Amino acid sequence: MSEATEASSGAAKNDQFIVFDKIRKQFGSNVVLDDLSFSVGSGERVTLIGPSGSGKTTILRLLMTLERPNSGTINVDGEYLFHEQRNGKLVPAGEAHIRKVRRRITMVFQHFNLFPNMRVLRNVTEAPIHVLGQSREEAETRGKELLEMVGLGDKLNAYPSQLSGGQQQRVGIARALAVDPDVLLMDEVTSALDPEIAAEVLDVLRDIARNTDVSMLLVTHAMKFARDVSNRVLMFCDGGIIEDGAPERIFNEPEHDRTRSFLRSVI
Ligand code: ADP
Repeated sequence: MSEATEASSGAAKNDQFIVFDKIRKQFGSNVVLDDLSFSVGSGERVTLIGPSGSGKTTILRLLMTLERPNSGTINVDGEYLFHEQRNGKLVPAGEAHIRKVRRRITMVFQHFNLFPNMRVLRNVTEAPIHVLGQSREEAETRGKELLEMVGLGDKLNAYPSQLSGGQQQRVGIARALAVDPDVLLMDEVTSALDPEIAAEVLDVLRDIARNTDVSMLLVTHAMKFARDVSNRVLMFCDGGIIEDGAPERIFNEPEHDRTRSFLRSVI
């Protein structure tokens, strides 16, 4: 099979699935991301580490379109997030285009952000029905499968307040997967949980990493979690990436003093 045919049939892994190209993001005079370029492959699990304020959450918020870059482009599976091609030119995208690309990206939040007045199954089916236009039956069938997968098949009719933190976070994960995303973002998803409870969430995420090819970007200070779930670590500092490698390499043989001192502070 030629390279082109292989790529178009999806047989080859696309290592340019998410591409940040020369992204600059500043808040007032605070330049948080400075000419930042990196890419993430389809199915890759990438942990973003670095000191507080180094721009990790901003990366996730850009992908969620909660922030816009000051300059540069972000591309997801061949489509620009904030730009579109018109007459061969790259121009700022309209809202409809942004919504279309953004739909393929979901996020699991630190504080779960479940709808408190809705039962568990409804929390999971809401977006597939109202955003993707699925029938209630279709959304409920898939929702039950996902809740089964995260070990909550017996809690479909519970309200979030009747669940433990770990169970709520597992509902959050099922809800994020219900829209069949290409990209799953996770911002400190275990930091509000006790270590034992965090372990049950970690087990679920490990299963997802093994059984799906969703690309994951996670921000965490839990280095064991990063090591267990991800296959790549990016170390952020001073507006850019100073190290990029496999978790074993970064954690066991960091090249930069800044990485070494950061790791000493969190492990
Ligand atoms: P990290 O996740 O690495 O801790 P963040 O991406 O949250 O870092 O923040 C990077 C920097 O951007 C911080 O200095 C933060 O104060 C600033 N920042 C983030 N969001 C905003 C905002 N909406 N307005 C002003 N400053 C912000």
